Amino acid sequence: MFFKIIFLRREIFDNLQSNNPTIQNLSVLKHEESHLSRAGKLQALKYLFPKYHLKEELIAYKEQLKFLKENNETYNLENIANHLPGLDYQSAKKLLTKLWQES
Ligand SMILES: [Zn+2]
Repeated sequence: MFFKIIFLRREIFDNLQSNNPTIQNLSVLKHEESHLSRAGKLQALKYLFPKYHLKEELIAYKEQLKFLKENNETYNLENIANHLPGLDYQSAKKLLTKLWQES
């Protein structure tokens, strides 16, 4: 069974509820919405198979980076690289740099 719930850090949630949400926080929402829209596509599997998890994260980060770029914002390479499952830091950084260029 899948529950359509988005988990956001409190400070991000509060900012999104305000009259002037930041582009960065909106991009986090985009990321989570991307996961949510794919919830039917066996999201739970990602916790069992790291490769599948990485694929899902890259799809969501692609949405997030595209949104940031469209709004002339930058992204936190170090932070995101640390959140990619099953990849060492250098490979993650390389992959993200490519993703950003393609966005
Ligand atoms: Zn994610």
